[in-house]
Amino acid sequence: MCTWPEYLERAAAARAERQMQRQRREVDAVDGARYALAGASSLVAFGSNDYLALSHHPALRQALAEAAWRWGTGSGASHLLGGHTRAHAELETRLAQWQAAYIPQVRALYFGTGYLANLALMTALGPAEATLVADKRIHASLVDGARLAAGVLRIYPHADYAAAERLLARAQTPLRLLVTDSVFSMDGDLADLPRLLALAERFDALLVVDDAHGFGLLGAQGRGALEHFALRSPRLVYMATLGKAAGVAGAVVCARAQIIDHLVNTGRAYIYTTASPPALAQALQTSLDLIEGDYGQQARVRLRALAQQLQQALQPVAARAGWTLPVRKGAIHPLIVGDNATALRLAAGLEARGLWLPAVRPPTVAAGTARLRISLSAAHHPADVQRLAEALADLVACGDAFSSAPRP
Ligand SMILES: *Cc1c(COP(=O)(O)O)cnc(C)c1O
Repeated sequence: MCTWPEYLERAAAARAERQMQRQRREVDAVDGARYALAGASSLVAFGSNDYLALSHHPALRQALAEAAWRWGTGSGASHLLGGHTRAHAELETRLAQWQAAYIPQVRALYFGTGYLANLALMTALGPAEATLVADKRIHASLVDGARLAAGVLRIYPHADYAAAERLLARAQTPLRLLVTDSVFSMDGDLADLPRLLALAERFDALLVVDDAHGFGLLGAQGRGALEHFALRSPRLVYMATLGKAAGVAGAVVCARAQIIDHLVNTGRAYIYTTASPPALAQALQTSLDLIEGDYGQQARVRLRALAQQLQQALQPVAARAGWTLPVRKGAIHPLIVGDNATALRLAAGLEARGLWLPAVRPPTVAAGTARLRISLSAAHHPADVQRLAEALADLVACGDAFSSAPRP
């Protein structure tokens, strides 16, 4: 027996003891990778998913302002009850065209957020007749969707495709769904999608690909993971978010028409929520123009150069400190330091040096793998990366990073 205040106090104390308390920081202003935090001076941030620096692009701001005059601020209703506008429909047509080379008879469905899209996907494509076979490190929204789904959930160790094959072979249900991220959000590594698609074909499964961190970045035109691997199959169920590289908000699911029709009819996370503001859908057209045009091409080239610079500058520092910096070519570079206290002390030390990086701790990542998740943006300059490398080297040299915080 306990009261609510007792229960909540105990939960808070347990979080504090394990260095797992989380807090939000209030941002006063953002200009590219420079953030002004309430009560602090300006910081260079390496924590954003605004990879192409589109969220403040003048053409996109202008497009959103004009779209708000055309459509107003809110949609006023759910998609099935009057909230579905021409702006939503035209965006879906364009997003379907973007994936048409990779998925036959493709249609697209636009959602208010990626979290909702994944809830709808997992529940609609995970009925009691299905086994869901998923990578251990898929995004929390896919995990939550899979927990809500009626089907059986089976998890394979990260990137262990032989284990995935065994789980598919052993599935007792008539239907099978294979589920993965393309670029894993906390590790920055890329799933072997051709191999997973071959498994899907062999075991007559659908393959769900969450491309939240690939859309806009992967592929010559920025169309994402399917373009990167030049895959083509009616088994592909492609999901991408539009609040990260695309700089606006929302998400899209692309799949063949029969699957999209099933989502519209049974995806509760699509049906029972107010349609997102049509102005956002209209502004996203400009975002897609920028991603596939010169702006996007140049941003992707810049990001690749920054990634190379960061790896070169940080590998020696990581080695000296005994941390792990996996080799990555994309925007996400995890600096894995191990315990929560070290990650927090490092983040604090970097902030004192004008740099803002999130310390990512369990349960977001596995226990003992706390890390600084470094994410690069086209808004960064080479000098910013240099500054980060010097600050980390400085912290390692002072030993600041190692003295663990006093235990309560
Ligand atoms: C961010 C993210 C989501 C959720 O998308 P939102 O639009 O932010 O709700 C889903 N999957 C992955 C891999 C993500 O990184």
